[in-house]
Amino acid sequence: MNFDFSPEEIQIRETVARFAERELAPLAEWVDAEDELPEGIFKTLGGMGLLGLTLSEEYGGAGGSLMMEVLATEELSRVSPSVALSFGAHLNLCVDNIARNGNERQKAKYLPGLASGDLVGAMALTEPNAGSDAVGIQTSARLDGDHYILNGSKTFITNGPIADVLVVYAKTDKSRGPNGISAFIVEKGFPGFSVSKKLKKVGFRGSPTGELVFEDCRVPAANLLGKENRGVAVMMSGLDFERACFGSVGVGLAQGAFDLALKYSKERFQFGRPIASFQMIQSKLADMYTQMQAARILVYWVTTLAEQGKRVHKEAAAAMLFAGEMCVRVAEEAVQIHGGYGLMLEYPVQRFFRDAKLATIGAGTAEIRRTIIARELLQD
Ligand SMILES: Cc1cc2nc3c(=O)[nH]c(=O)nc-3n(C[C@H](O)[C@H](O)[C@H](O)COP(=O)(O)OP(=O)(O)OC[C@H]3O[C@@H](n4cnc5c(N)ncnc54)[C@H](O)[C@@H]3O)c2cc1C
Repeated sequence: MNFDFSPEEIQIRETVARFAERELAPLAEWVDAEDELPEGIFKTLGGMGLLGLTLSEEYGGAGGSLMMEVLATEELSRVSPSVALSFGAHLNLCVDNIARNGNERQKAKYLPGLASGDLVGAMALTEPNAGSDAVGIQTSARLDGDHYILNGSKTFITNGPIADVLVVYAKTDKSRGPNGISAFIVEKGFPGFSVSKKLKKVGFRGSPTGELVFEDCRVPAANLLGKENRGVAVMMSGLDFERACFGSVGVGLAQGAFDLALKYSKERFQFGRPIASFQMIQSKLADMYTQMQAARILVYWVTTLAEQGKRVHKEAAAAMLFAGEMCVRVAEEAVQIHGGYGLMLEYPVQRFFRDAKLATIGAGTAEIRRTIIARELLQD
């Protein structure tokens, strides 16, 4: 497989890397400490063309490749995983989903605002009693004239507290299990929709995570995304690429932690020598680098296959599994290389350590990823 990036992919990687270093790096600690995103970040990312990266030009997009989205996500994650997570929830989970499954009216209505950053996007699937068991959701949607009436609640929703447009999954027919779920485009101003809580987290602080409530929430029937009772098809439509993208958060985050550890190992002296001169530290750095590169190649491989339209369920689950667990290991070793300073809040490496854990939980836990891989292996 050829990983020669196109000139546009190289350019987006360099542009986002430069932006992250210049604009985000000075704010990353503030984002974590204050639990706030940088002011106007969506407008800024929209102005750079990043929020409509994969959209066609008629919707205000750049017509870019999936690989461009993965590279942009990786570069943002290297500096501020929190900004990267909110970016991914907006673009990958909301914008790309509406672009794939929306009708012309829906795309014309929502995509230009989402691409410019005037609107913030989110995707709401998880509920207090339905996480890994996603098709066990209880939020209901009942057709009443030309509106659906939604009732229920969602939790852990990235961008939930600030989102203007949300892709929401609800049961339109509770008797039909997975074949009774539908997807909807919900605007924050729809009557009956509210954000009940902004959740406090140990990692990915700054990226707002919320609980949402639907109380007789009136959603126009025209906002059904895809067909009624075919919500699982909407959910599955971009799943392989979504997993690759989440894997790229892990790769970028690990790179950020690794860069800090490498630098520190050359600056910290013990026994009259830089700690980088000790073989055990060298061994850690070599292992961290090797694991990171392996995960990166897995993520690029799955992205390339997804871009070719191939069905890559187990490959995507494997990439996200490996990248997620690698990211936790690398971030932990990065702290280890910092010794006691690694646990001090003024050293940024602890932020990567706290952020890393989500990489084995979000977008399907490590256990569920293994289940998907094993199921396909055994079916084959
Ligand atoms: C910061 C953050 C952001 C998130 N953003 C979003 C978002 O934007 N939109 C959204 O819809 N959701 C979001 N989520 C939710 C996320 O996808 C879920 O947390 C995840 O799917 C796991 O669900 P759960 O937390 O309910 O854990 P549970 O499903 O309750 O799992 C608990 C434990 O049991 C294990 N387990 C469960 N079932 C099995 C099984 N069959 N076999 C083996 N082990 C099993 C799990 O692996 C885990 O270890 C977010 C979560 C977090 C923490």
